[in-house]
Order: sequence, then structure tokens, then C-alpha cells
Amino acid sequence: MAYSYDDQNIFAKILRGEIPNDTVLETEHSLAFRDIRPQAPTHVLVIPRGAYVCYDDFAQNASDAEILDYTRTIGKVCEMEGVAANGFRLISNAGAEGVQEVPHLHVHILAGRPLGRMLE
Ligand code: 5GP
Repeated sequence: MAYSYDDQNIFAKILRGEIPNDTVLETEHSLAFRDIRPQAPTHVLVIPRGAYVCYDDFAQNASDAEILDYTRTIGKVCEMEGVAANGFRLISNAGAEGVQEVPHLHVHILAGRPLGRMLE
């Protein structure tokens, strides 16, 4: 599927420095920052700097360097936040039925409390 990117979305504005953020980690191709409405004691969003709408768009169109950087950044944030010992959850919502609020790819890293079962 071909994706159309809205460069006025809130994460595009964060990437351009137009809106402040609580940065956790910056890399060449990625940015990690704390969610403004945290759903758990640890709630970090990791986004690629490139203009990708969702995971599918990224997986199809990003370069190997971007994909490697993004994957490693998610892992590095997990390490920095110390979430591996007690467990954590990664979520990436996409599209209308995935209830994606911001149309720029992001992975939520959630941890720090029992998160409950998602899939029954
Ligand atoms: P989605 O539903 O698209 O997967 O999640 C979007 C997330 O972005 C939500 O958890 C929401 O709290 C977060 N968010 C929305 N606007 C902002 C903002 O301006 N700054 C930050 N740090 N997070 C935001």
C-alpha cells in the first residue's frame, strides 16, 4: 500500500523542534521521548526521523540503516530504562482499526506495572 504522510502531525513537529519533548535518546535515524500521557511508570515512544506513517510503511520503504538504527534504539531504551528484569510491552498502533492517534510510526515501550493480558 502507498502511504501519504502528513507533515503537520505532532511527531513531525517534535522532530522539527517546534514542540518540546522529554527526550530519552537521540540517534542518527531515531528519537525516543516520554509519552505526554503515560499509561505506565515507564512509557517511552520511539520514532524514526524519516517520514513513515506506520510500521508497514517503514518496513517496506526505510533503508537498512534506518531499520537497524530504529530496532537498536528500541532495545537501547529498554536497557536504559531497566525494563527487561520485570518485563515490558512494545505496541505499535496503525490505522483506523489499530486506533493510531498520531500518523507517524511510533513504538510504545510500556513497563513498570503489571500490564494485563491483551490477547484472549
Ligand atoms: P497512538 O494512539 O497513536 O499509538 O499513540 C499516540 C501517543 O502519543 C499517545 O500515547 C499520546 O499520549 C502521545 N502524544 C500525543 N501528543 C503528544 C505530544 O505532544 N507529546 C508527547 N510526548 N506525546 C504525545
